[in-house]
Amino acid sequence: MSTDDDLLIFEAAESTHVGMLREVNQDAVFLTTDVFVVADGMGGHAAGDIASALAVASIADMIRMAGVDDLVDAVKAANKSIMKRAESEPELKGMGTTVVALASFIEADVQHLALVNVGDSRAYRFSGDELSQLTDDHSLVADLVRDGMLRADQAEHHPQKNILTRALGIEHDVRVDSWVYQPVPGDRYLLCSDGLFNEVSEVGIADVLREYSNPDEAVAELVAQANAHGGRDNITVMLVDVTDPSATDPGDGRASEEDVIEPEEAVATEEPTEEELHERQLSASASDVPAARSEKFSLRRMFRRQKGDSNGSTH
Ligand code: MN
Repeated sequence: MSTDDDLLIFEAAESTHVGMLREVNQDAVFLTTDVFVVADGMGGHAAGDIASALAVASIADMIRMAGVDDLVDAVKAANKSIMKRAESEPELKGMGTTVVALASFIEADVQHLALVNVGDSRAYRFSGDELSQLTDDHSLVADLVRDGMLRADQAEHHPQKNILTRALGIEHDVRVDSWVYQPVPGDRYLLCSDGLFNEVSEVGIADVLREYSNPDEAVAELVAQANAHGGRDNITVMLVDVTDPSATDPGDGRASEEDVIEPEEAVATEEPTEEELHERQLSASASDVPAARSEKFSLRRMFRRQKGDSNGSTH
């Protein structure tokens, strides 16, 4: 078995901000020492806040994290709890949320990072001075780019860029993309809502990650730049630095053969189809309610998290 001495640790920082134009922050963020979640809620009144908080709470309540399937199941549980709430409270009809989450687990004595995504929040990895987007956006515009119908630069300012093709709270069965990576000391994983990358270019994001080695300073600078560029949406940024606590020299301390295993790219857990295009403000088709999970996704707990983890309003 691994001893604690062998384990990498994850030094994380997050910042969430309402932005310059919106009145409410409907993004939600949650982190522990080894679970990291960003969600971007949508829906009128309090609905978007509730959807993103429910997503975060479902992942926070994961009973075990023994593999990527556990994280996928937590996202599916989040979807069910959001749909159940929307069906039981008419004023919440149409609420939905994105979710992107990273969590570490140990399998056969080896540490891994599981990543899941639904919607158009993103995960990036900054490694070897290069920033790569790990997730695919589930949006109409991203589909058009993938199909060669739009160039990336045309997509950036496309009027329909806010139309999502997948989100939690839309359908009883949600397809969850998932990947497994090998954590490498020095790598930085960035989770963010679209309020960041719609305002700050990837070149700009990489510049900040290069310049600010302290994760708290890096997330603060990214949020500040998003606001300086307009801050037209809520902005949430979480940075997760993979760190070897036993390395004396962070540069080349303990590189072993294990550290250089290539990331294992897993495919989406289910095959995408092309049928659904959903607007962000979309009415949930509320018919047969699935048996809900336990009471642990309760409103009180959710608001407690929301208050603690973001500067959102208190209700
Ligand atoms: Mn957003």
